[in-house]
Amino acid sequence: MGAIELRNVEKWFSEVQVIKGVDLTIADGEFIIFVGPSGCGKSTLLRMIGGLEDVSRGQIIIDGMDATDQPPSKRGLAMVFQSYALYPHMTVRENMGFSLKTAGAPKDELDAKVMDAARGLKLEPLLERRPKELSGGQRQRVAIGRSIVRDPTAFLFDEPLSNLDASLRVDMRYEIAKLHQRLKSTMIYVTHDQVEAMTLADRIVVLDAGFIAQVGTPRELYERPANLFVATFIGSPK
Ligand code: ADP
Ligand code: MG
Repeated sequence: MGAIELRNVEKWFSEVQVIKGVDLTIADGEFIIFVGPSGCGKSTLLRMIGGLEDVSRGQIIIDGMDATDQPPSKRGLAMVFQSYALYPHMTVRENMGFSLKTAGAPKDELDAKVMDAARGLKLEPLLERRPKELSGGQRQRVAIGRSIVRDPTAFLFDEPLSNLDASLRVDMRYEIAKLHQRLKSTMIYVTHDQVEAMTLADRIVVLDAGFIAQVGTPRELYERPANLFVATFIGSPK
């Protein structure tokens, strides 16, 4: 479970087309990264997959079902953004369990899932703290933990590390790589950081003004960039 297919997806904001005929098949369990300069459409594409933005044209298929017109809550996806709003008055444990609790999960299932996610992200010692007693990196781990608890079909990350300082970014990159190895779930990850893309991705999608400029493994893009735009962006020797 977790295959996602984009079929000729387009997005217009009034008269302006920002996503142009995107076709992409993401395999179950794949770690796929969207890169490209600011304004090229990475967030818009991710938000359409998540259902936060209407699709102007084309289809989004999740696990073989047409999800194009489904509300976000029906898609089974977890979204982790750079502004990771945690509830300030709740503890880490309560923040992590909140969505399952409101969905009516029994207490023992809730406790087990929160513990499981906390263990994987080394959050156990922090479970009784409140967000203001956490560092930026710890808060981001809680935001990720909170999304794991719901057993999503796939994770959507929009520049989740961009608010962290450089050394924390490296640590969190490692945590996210481990998380992917452990959960084996599909991950779609937006970044403008080439190093993040090259180290985390199974495949990278390079976007250029709403088009896919190239899709390939980090190595393919580095060794055989399709054009100068990709070469420049990936940092290949020209
Ligand atoms: P990225 O995430 O790659 O930086 P975005 O997907 O945020 O790019 O934006 C792609 C383009 O769409 C940009 O030109 C942006 O200004 C435009 N855009 C994004 N959201 C809206 C919106 N709600 N209304 C109008 N234009 C938008
Ligand atoms: Mg963006």
